[in-house]
Amino acid sequence: MSYVVPVPGLVLLPIIDSDRLFPVRRVYCVGRNYAAHAIEMGHDPDREAPFFFQKNPDNLVLSGLDFPYPPLSGDVHHEVELVVALKQGGSDISPEEALECVYGYAVGIDFTRRDLQAEAKASGKPWAAAKAFEHSAPISPLVATDIAGHPTTGRIWLSVNGERRQDGSLDQMIWKVPEIIAELSKLFTLAPGDVIMTGTPSGVGAVVRGDIVSCGIDGVSALDVKVV
Ligand code: MN
Repeated sequence: MSYVVPVPGLVLLPIIDSDRLFPVRRVYCVGRNYAAHAIEMGHDPDREAPFFFQKNPDNLVLSGLDFPYPPLSGDVHHEVELVVALKQGGSDISPEEALECVYGYAVGIDFTRRDLQAEAKASGKPWAAAKAFEHSAPISPLVATDIAGHPTTGRIWLSVNGERRQDGSLDQMIWKVPEIIAELSKLFTLAPGDVIMTGTPSGVGAVVRGDIVSCGIDGVSALDVKVV
């Protein structure tokens, strides 16, 4: 078989304590999944069902690589998030069976052009340019569930140049991982290789070139990213 354009490469995530790789199919993201973050963004956390948006697989930035500050924004924010990687999918998955779909977990950053997102919200336009831009999702190596289990209570934190900006706990998530998988599978057919960014605790803020962003989730992984 020959191709009329170069075949796009697979995005492959490394796995802790393994020489095997996780191929990424889709990247889903959950909006406003921590009450304190919903409030800091001007929303009432009690009245909202979960909602989803997407990034592209090739927006993922593997551990050890830099985050290039994107064009057309002067207000790029960090959002540290628990990332869920699926080994199994389907539609209408029940919360009770949802965790059987999980291969492992990682920590990731949902970098956001907050100024473009604010414009999009104000004019009822989509978030794609605010969220799904190049290199917008640094991610740590995956840790499989046979090592990490299913973390539900660990601290989730992010520092910029050694100063703590975000400091939450996974038990503050409004929609828990099994519920997220169940809700998402009502809207989309999930499949092996899908990853889900599960929302950020409060304390989001801007980064600038030269910043060193460090983040982690207790019992999962940690990640350092330089903004260049
Ligand atoms: Mn986010």
